[in-house]
Order: sequence, then structure tokens, then C-alpha cells
Amino acid sequence: MSALVESYVAGGWFRAVDEGEAVLDAATGEVVAWVSSRGLDYGAMVTHAHEVGGPAIRSLTFHERAGLLKALAKHLGGAKDELYALSLRTGATQRDSMVDIDGGIGTLFSYASKGTRELPNDTVFLDGATERLGREGRFLGQHVYTSRPGVAVQINAFNFPVWGMLEKLAPAFLAGLPSIVKPASQTGYLTEAVVRLVVDSGILPEGSLQLVSGSAGTLLDELGEQDSVAFTGSAHTAGILRSHPSVLHRGVRLGVEADSLNCSILGPDVTTDDPEFELFVKGVVTEMTVKAGQKCTAIRRTLVPEAMADAVVEAITGRLAKVTVGNPAAEGVRMGPLASLAQRQEVRKAIEALRNSADVVFGDPDSVEVVDADPERGAFISPVLLRARPGAVEPHDVEAFGPVSTVLTYGSVDEAIALAARGRGSLVGSLVTHDPDVARQVTLGLAPWHGRILVLDRDDAPESTGHGSPLPMLVHGGPGRAGGGEELGGVRGVLHHMQRTAIQASPDMLTAITGRWTTGSQRTVEDVHPFRKSLAELRIGDSIESAPRQVTLADIDHFAEFTGDTFYAHTDPEAAAANPLFGGIVAHGYLVVSLAAGLFVQPDPGPVLANFGVDNLRFLTPVKADDTIRVTLTVKQITPRSSADYGEVRWDAVVTNQDDQPVATYDVLTLVAKTWPQEA
Ligand code: NDP
Repeated sequence: MSALVESYVAGGWFRAVDEGEAVLDAATGEVVAWVSSRGLDYGAMVTHAHEVGGPAIRSLTFHERAGLLKALAKHLGGAKDELYALSLRTGATQRDSMVDIDGGIGTLFSYASKGTRELPNDTVFLDGATERLGREGRFLGQHVYTSRPGVAVQINAFNFPVWGMLEKLAPAFLAGLPSIVKPASQTGYLTEAVVRLVVDSGILPEGSLQLVSGSAGTLLDELGEQDSVAFTGSAHTAGILRSHPSVLHRGVRLGVEADSLNCSILGPDVTTDDPEFELFVKGVVTEMTVKAGQKCTAIRRTLVPEAMADAVVEAITGRLAKVTVGNPAAEGVRMGPLASLAQRQEVRKAIEALRNSADVVFGDPDSVEVVDADPERGAFISPVLLRARPGAVEPHDVEAFGPVSTVLTYGSVDEAIALAARGRGSLVGSLVTHDPDVARQVTLGLAPWHGRILVLDRDDAPESTGHGSPLPMLVHGGPGRAGGGEELGGVRGVLHHMQRTAIQASPDMLTAITGRWTTGSQRTVEDVHPFRKSLAELRIGDSIESAPRQVTLADIDHFAEFTGDTFYAHTDPEAAAANPLFGGIVAHGYLVVSLAAGLFVQPDPGPVLANFGVDNLRFLTPVKADDTIRVTLTVKQITPRSSADYGEVRWDAVVTNQDDQPVATYDVLTLVAKTWPQEA
């Protein structure tokens, strides 16, 4: 039984006004679903996102948004069986589905955790330190990121119907943007199933997520200056989007991830006896067969030293011969079909083009033995390995989006780098070597042409996530032909969706605007020591100015002996006198910081629970024997944790000497109870 795939529009499910186009099961050729967006009101979607979804998300702090992503990840994790069953129909094996479904849910978890740990419990993100713009520190600059009141349109490829949606949704949501997701029609029924789970859960505020099933229609026409489009798919479609009037004339931001002729390079140091040889071969075969090679990160070009080509071809061929192709639901099947018969046609065409300058050394593009399926009704194809002839052109130009790779040879490391660059920009490249010099030369040579580079050897292999896996904490995207876009990369992926603005103002104004105390702005010194205040009572700017303390030679001697830090500048007057920076005995920097703690601390049990570190510690002026220091401590930032009954307090610490020169500056990081005494 098959149904019309619906869209989720302005708070309700929408059925197209026609019956739509049939979408076939990749393995059996049966109709799985019908898909159409005819009659869909794209304008209403954009308005709903702007007026309902956006304001609701932006009323939440980064931490609250992260909490919802985590809840959503848990919810989807509980419905995986249903998604896996549907995923089979796209041609995905269990292993393929794991990459798509578990990979997508894992990305939500990862962003939830990053959002809590690396973003403030606020709606504004500060980018870098303040810049002093005037001589006296009364005029400062600070970069901030704020949420745009727009919508993030996400147009996805057919190969990752779940991950493709979630990896774009998570950073957009954290950034405060509602999403309109447009999956590829071929596999959009699986995306629809995920969207139904999201909507039914009620976890995300209404308007956070809408779905277009079928064509994107006039969606882009509805977009304006605050909106963005993130696209994954073919270079051809990317070209159409790049020249769309909304992008050309209305400032709609477009991020593109397109075709990519990724390479894996076998280092010149590797022999068949080295563990790296096996790692290389295994990597190529895995990338050819996972998702039947329908991965934007798959290895299309296998670059090996000339002398190693025969051995590599033999080893890859040996492994490919053991790959069972067939119905992804059947026992023992390692590789399922392509997503559609049309896709198989495309892949065969690409192999034909590759044959202009390469010979097929494994597999027959036109025939394959399959388990538990009809090889013609299903979109099955054999893995195909080619070996390039000298001077080959097509392997650097033609992407066969299937289980296809071409072996090419290089003479020198420089030639390997030059060949890699002929892909004109890739998402990922890998280098398998155990030679550090090769690693540096090749990696730095490849880097300008790649978004990510994996350097694989016997040491990192046990934990390596492999060539083809984009990771939520690392950048995904690549220059040139790969589209020039950048996704993921942890918090970077969130900031891509936000607007960076340089604010110029006085210290007091910057404190008010950013919620973080700025050097030079007002401080509040009261009788109550700020260490006696709970989070509920503490305010930005609360401050303590300590009493002075003289640092004697006896203190320095004692510290040297006590800690064992007898570095000559603290213990040997003659040698210290010859030091061009000190000109005599100076106090240890850590002694200064320790004495400062003694000066600012309020020692009784109270709301301050722990000191968990210091940031940005700098020693600015040497402290000589008999200098007098004092410290000023000021509440700089307060970050309550939503999942605990305490929060983080960042204190600005400045140690000065008797001449008011700054001796040391740093941030003290503490955990402070939300209330004190703590409620039982
Ligand atoms: P397409 O570019 O044809 O489609 C990608 C997405 O764009 C789909 O959702 C598609 O919708 C949509 N789309 C197509 N035309 C338009 C348009 N004019 N305006 C707005 N949206 C549009 O790529 P495919 O998914 O079909 O894959 C084809 C090729 O893309 C592969 O062979 C491969 O080369 C490349 N690819 C690259 C990937 C990457 O991550 N870099 C991943 C997957 C594929 P619909 O399906 O409804 O047409």
C-alpha cells in the first residue's frame, strides 16, 4: 500500500491537489509512495516561519534550545525501528541506515551538548574580546552574533533523507531560525516520517519546522534579506539556485554542497607489509560500498605510487569480490541498490565517460548477481573499479555517484598533490601514511582544496571514524567544485546562521548590551563580599577590591622551596640580574596568582562551590621583592545551568602593584549555588 507524501505547512498537514508522481522501492521496484506539492502555498510557509516559528525560538536562550534538541534526539531514538523499516525501501542496508538515522540523531545530541557547553545561556553570542578604540578606554568595539528574523530553507539530496535534514536543522534551530525542509522527492517519504515524529512529539515550538514534499516550486521567490538556503545536491541545481533573483538581488544567503571528486592517497612510504596498506584498501572498499557509493564524501579517486598500483588493484579487487549485492532486507547483503533506476542510468553514463581514459578492472556496470531481488526491477549495480591510463582526464572531472572508484598513479609527492587539486575542490581527502614528513607536505598541499583531511595510520586507525563520515564537531563542505559552502563544525555551524555585528560604545553601554561586564564599566562594591551572594543575588559588576599585600623575598624563597620551582629568576640573584627582562629576582607568576586568591577569597562555607579554572592568564609586569600587590575581582558573566542548582560565574581579576600597573590579568571561573542556603 502506498500513500501520498504530505507536506507540513503553517501548522497543518497538506495534501497536494493531484495524485503526484510515483516513487519506487529501490530494491523491488514497487511503488512506495506518491509525491507532489501541487497547490502548496509557499508564501504561507515563509510567513508562518517568520511570524510564528522564529519569534518562538528566539524567545528561548541557547541553552533552552539545546535542551529541546536533546529531548528531540531522545524521542527520535525511541522510534528508530519504524525509521529503519522505511529506510530499507530507499535501498539502504542496516549499515547504511545506521549512518543516516543514528548519524542524524547523534548530530542532534552533539549540537545539544555543544549548545549547552559552548554557548551562553543567553540569546546573544560575543565574538572575541573587546577592541579598545580610544586612548583612555572610553570607546570600545565588540563583535556580537544575533539571530536573524528569517527562515532557513534546507534543500537536501536523496542519499541522506534523515541525517541530511537533522544536520541542517540542529545548527539552524540553535541559531534561532525556523527551518523549511525540502527533501529530495526520491526518498522524501522517510523525511516525512521523521517530520511526523517531530510534530507529534510537540517538543519544538510550532513553526520551527515545516516540510515541502515534492517540488520546491516558488519557495525561493518568497525569500528575502534575512533568509537563507542551504543546498546539498548536484552542481547543476546549485547553478540554478545561484542565479535565482532572490539570491542575486535580495541578499538571500546560499550555502552549497555539490559534487565532489574526493581522493584517498596512499603515501609513498607504505609497502604491502605495512598495516597502512590494509587500512588504505579497506577505506577505499568501504567508501565504494556504503550507501552503494551514493555519498558526497565517497572516494572517487584512489591515488597510489606507480610501483604500488598492481598490488592495490589486486587487494581492492579481492575485497570487492566478497561484497554481496542484493535486497538490503536479505541476510548477508553488504550492498543494496542505488536509490532509483534513473540514478543507475546516470551512474552507467558516468562509467562510460570514465572509460575514455580508464579501464574497468573489476565489475560489470551492466550486470550483477543479486541476492533475493530482481536485478532489473531494482536499481542494482556492481561495484566498479577502474584503472586510469596515463594522462587520464575524466577521473578528475566525472563523478559517478555510485559504487565506483578509479585508481590513478603518481610519481612524486608533488605530483600526488597536483593530481588531488585537479578535482577542483573536494569535501574530503585522505592520506594513508606513517611518515610525518609526508603527512605534513601532503596535508598542507591538499588543505586549500579540501574541507576536511583524514590522515590515517596504524596509530589512529583503531579510533578513526573513517574517510567518509562528516562529524558534527568538524567542518563539512569544501571549496570550488564541492560548492564552497561550510556546514557543521560545532558552534561554527550555528554562527553561519547568525548575523555578526560590530558594536561601538562605551564600556557601560557594552556591559548593558552584551550582558557581560566590560573592563572600564561601573563596578559595585558593597559591604557584602560577593562570595556570600548566591546566583539569585549576584549581579554583573559586583566587585571586591582587596587589601594590599607586600611580596617579600622570604615569600619568594618559601614558594620556590615549597613548590620545587627554583628557576633561577626566583632564586639566583646574579643570574636573575643578567636576565634582560627582569634585571633581578622576581616573584613567580603563580605566587602572585596564589597570593591574589588569598586576598580576594571569603573563606567560609557559602554559595561559591568550586573554582574550576582560570582563562586568559597573563603576567604583565614582573613583581620584585617588596613590591605591594592588590587585586580587584569583578563579576563578569553569570551563566545559570538549566540542569543543575548552580551556575557558572566568570570573574574578572586584575592584580596591580603599588604604582597601579597591572601585574596580572585573568578570568576566575567558579560554580555558584543558585540559592543559599541551598534549598533541600
Ligand atoms: P539534485 O540537485 O537533482 O537534487 C537535490 C535537491 O534539489 C533535491 O531535493 C531536489 O528536489 C532539489 N531540486 C532540484 N531542482 C531544484 C530547483 N530547480 N529548485 C530547488 N530545488 C531543486 O541532486 P540529486 O539529489 O538528484 O543528486 C544528483 C547528483 O547530486 C548526484 O549524482 C551527485 O552528483 C550530487 N550529490 C551531491 C551530494 C553532496 O552532498 N555533495 C549528495 C547527493 C548528491 P527533487 O528531488 O524534488 O528534484
